This record gives sequence, C-alpha cells and structure tokens, in this order.
Amino acid sequence: MRSRGQLLRALGVIIWLVVVSSYSAAGQQLPATVAGHTQTVLLGTGTPRADPQRSGPATAVVVNGTPYLVDAGPGIARRAAAAYDKGVKGLAVANLQTAFITHLHSDHTVGYPDLIFTTWVQGRNRPLKVYGPPGIEAMTKYIMLAWQVDIDVRTKGLERRDAAGLAVEAHDVKPGLIYQDSSVKVTAFPVSHGELLAYGYRFQTPDRTVVISGDTSPSPALINSCPKCDVLIHEAFSEDYMPADMPNWLQYRQKYHTTPTQLAEIANQTQPGLLIVYHRGVGVPGREISDEQYLAEIRRTYRGRVVIGQDLDVY
Ligand SMILES: [Zn+2]
Ligand SMILES: [Zn+2]
Repeated sequence: MRSRGQLLRALGVIIWLVVVSSYSAAGQQLPATVAGHTQTVLLGTGTPRADPQRSGPATAVVVNGTPYLVDAGPGIARRAAAAYDKGVKGLAVANLQTAFITHLHSDHTVGYPDLIFTTWVQGRNRPLKVYGPPGIEAMTKYIMLAWQVDIDVRTKGLERRDAAGLAVEAHDVKPGLIYQDSSVKVTAFPVSHGELLAYGYRFQTPDRTVVISGDTSPSPALINSCPKCDVLIHEAFSEDYMPADMPNWLQYRQKYHTTPTQLAEIANQTQPGLLIVYHRGVGVPGREISDEQYLAEIRRTYRGRVVIGQDLDVY
C-alpha cells in the first residue's frame, strides 16, 4: 500500500504535467499561478505593410480559456484558428466574442469585418462586444450596412442562418475602467498617436497584469499604467527605419511612434517582467531591420527581459 507521501508526490507530478502541457504551445513562458491562467497570444505583429510573415496588429489575452482581443488587423480570424491548432483552445473562432480596439487606423481595423462575419458563420451565437475610442460605434454600423447582401442571403436564403449570432454591441468608451467580468478588469488609457484618438489597454487578470501600447509615441499614461506590470507589449520603429514614400517621416515618427531607445527608457521606468516588442518597422525587402538590431538598440540601455514578438508566440 502506498504511503500518504507517495500519493502526494504523485499528485504533484500530475499537477505539474497538466500545467506544463497547457503551456506546450508557448514561445517563452511566464509561470502560471494557481489562481488563474493567463496566456498572451500574438496573433499579428505587423504594420500596414502586407508582410507575409506578419499578420496585421492583433493580440489575444486568454484568461482561463476565455479570449479578449486587442485590435483586429487583417488576418485575425485565420491567426486565431492557427493559434487554436497550436493548442490555445480558447481561441476557437466561434469563441471570439470580446474585443478592444486601440484606434481606428486601418491596419488595426481592416480585420474587424472578418471578426464580425467569420465568427458568425463559424458558429458564434452570442453578441460580439467591442470597445474602442469614439468612432467604433459608427464604424460598426457602416460595416453592417456594407455587408447587407451577405447578411440577407445567409439569413433569408437556404442557409437559414440565425441572425442572433450576428449581433455586435459596439461601445465608444472614454479612458478609465471600461470592462470587468470574473476573469479580467480592462482599463483604457490615452496614448499619443499624432492626430488620432488612441488608447492603450491594461488587463488585470487573476495572475497577471498585461499592458498593450497600441500605436504610440512615448506616453506618460502608459508609463503610469504599467508600474512593474508582468507583460508590456509595445510598438517600436528603429531610427534606421525610413519609408521611401514619406519625406516627413522623422517628424511623423516623433508624433506617432516610439524608437527602440525611447522604448528602453519606458521599460527602465516601468520595469515590466517581460517586454514584448510588436508592430515594429521591419523595412523593405533587401533593407530589412533585423530582430537582432531591435534587441541591440533596446539593450544598449535596458537590462530587463525583452523579446521581439513573432506571430503566434504565446507568453
Ligand atoms: Zn498601426
Ligand atoms: Zn496607428
């Protein structure tokens, strides 16, 4: 007969195996705690460029299997399906029911119709709840109008699809606590993105604080929202990045984006457990700015843990 100690040890091994296997899809991992299990999934780390390696900006914070999306860049539904195939079962396409949009630039919203309609035809049966800066309600209304032919034929034709699953509840929100349920509290904070009204978001889950910058130049509100946060996901554009079609790029970058040197300073001030760089300017084929260069530029002055995010990484 086994002793009580042997049984407890066996139980410990089983719990460890469950935790490890649940992280098997991970790129690099942070430890889970008993109270909750938060995964940060990079669905798209790209920019407006149609980069075959990097889908449009989209991130998922998955808390105990429930996904919360940030931004809806092009490719979002297919990247969610890929993450599901990789083992993040919370990202089943029909399960995508809550999203937060940082700002209304097209690279962050071109996938919004995909999020609405692909989830519907793949079995979403509850309203999609969407939060964003003022303008997201109007954008939602016009998307529904633009796809009216599809809606009519799917609901009134032989497909006989239930229109209930098509519902979208869009909310123009002001900065502050904008969403709360048993898994997460989401706070929107204003960031500096040129003439646009743009938000970053802070997710407080049972086991983690995750802060996402969206597009921004260095922003005091972001620094205040991320003191010692567990994960900071932040954009960056190298000082060597220079698009051929924007002669005033330097002036633009100053107002709209963050350099790796500035990001290092932000990380020094906030001390995140892990800094993930996403939405980075990679340059054009033949003159690409490598991940190594981004890391080197940040590490010149920042000693903490930093990675360059790739699509479908799980942290
Ligand atoms: Zn962008
Ligand atoms: Zn933008």
